[in-house]
Amino acid sequence: MALKGIDIFKMSPKKNCKECGVPTCMAFSMKVAQGAMKIEQCPYMGADVIAKLSEATAPPMKTIQVGDLKLGGETVLYRHEKTFVSKTLYAVCVSDASDVDAVLADAQKVDYERIGEREYVEMIFVTYAGNKDAYVEAAKKAAAIGREVILDVEDADVAEAALAAIADKKPVLNGATEANVDAFNALATKYGVVMGVKAEGLDALYDLTAKIEGMGNKNLILNVCDTSIKEAFAEAVQIRRASLKNTDRTFGYPTIVNVAKLAAGDQAMQTALASLFTMKYGSVVVMETMTYAQALPLYGLRQNIFTDPQKPMKVEPKVYPINGSDENSICCVTVDFALTYFVVSGELERSGVPINMLITDAGGYSVLTAWAAGKLSASTIAKSVNECLADQKNKTLILPGKVAVLKGEIQEKLPDWNIVIGPREAVELVQFLKEYK
Ligand code: SF4
Repeated sequence: MALKGIDIFKMSPKKNCKECGVPTCMAFSMKVAQGAMKIEQCPYMGADVIAKLSEATAPPMKTIQVGDLKLGGETVLYRHEKTFVSKTLYAVCVSDASDVDAVLADAQKVDYERIGEREYVEMIFVTYAGNKDAYVEAAKKAAAIGREVILDVEDADVAEAALAAIADKKPVLNGATEANVDAFNALATKYGVVMGVKAEGLDALYDLTAKIEGMGNKNLILNVCDTSIKEAFAEAVQIRRASLKNTDRTFGYPTIVNVAKLAAGDQAMQTALASLFTMKYGSVVVMETMTYAQALPLYGLRQNIFTDPQKPMKVEPKVYPINGSDENSICCVTVDFALTYFVVSGELERSGVPINMLITDAGGYSVLTAWAAGKLSASTIAKSVNECLADQKNKTLILPGKVAVLKGEIQEKLPDWNIVIGPREAVELVQFLKEYK
């Protein structure tokens, strides 16, 4: 049961000294109860009180670390309430019965950057199909390509052989069931790895998770149903609701959704399901394949959902050469708001004209908003030009038409440059560049 602010306040030092960064102990207590501050941020809180409160005020959903990747740790059910913190990770599955080399080669083909984030298949899900030696080899090959590995196996002997083969990789051991839980828990503890829990139905999954927690293991991932789409969806939602709404910590773990099994052989359905479980509430989504046709909409969706709605999406301020431009090509300038970047760069590419696109640091705002907020001015543009385009020979700079008012001031600051007022809308760029040429 989560503590209320008033309960925490009763145990606080009541000094109102502001050293924690908030004006009163009451305000601090309220923030701790909401999960916005940690109890340790008050330097006067006694060790006994910290011990008593830290379990009660811990986030309802645990953050599970797999290699460099994080799963779970969510605090809200809906993105607009605050933000989601750990993006859904995508895994491609191989088995000892499949052409492991071919699947792994295909899985590595999708690898690109979008708005400063690397988009690729983060995990390989290695499923046991009955051949122990081939399974261990498949696990080794999966580990060798540098992605995180999930060993999906319910046989303790096979699990140990695979774990021993790639122990340094710290794979997830996915397959603890009611039948093998003692052996699997011992293996997970011995190798220091995250354990995946499987059971038929939510009640059985809850009981098994509680049993494993009782054994002292809280480094878990929960598998939702992999035989019925309807049940898988219901379980994913109910686990997350139980964890965050009812603060039931037994279900406070990330989940694995195996859409490769839910829609075996149907690539389009798997992509649709992966979209669904990216939104509701798969922490790892396992698929048979990840082609560019699947990845482009899927990673775009994920990036939209797992960015902080309170922070604008930005691209890196720098010069982006377009259509093979060099120092003899004309230049244009705009802001670092991601949408502006994509719309403007798309139109510039469409024009076919070699051009250097200078992105200035405008706090991630659009052109007019940045100008109104003082983040886009003659000084910031001149500074960017001097820093990023120092070697430029063609000194023609196209300014967004919406900030034409800045032309005179920029010209004064950049006397060597020819400042040209461009169109107000990106869609007019192609025509403008043709005529300008
Ligand atoms: S630092 Fe501690 S004692 Fe001081 S105001 Fe914050 S909660 Fe109160």
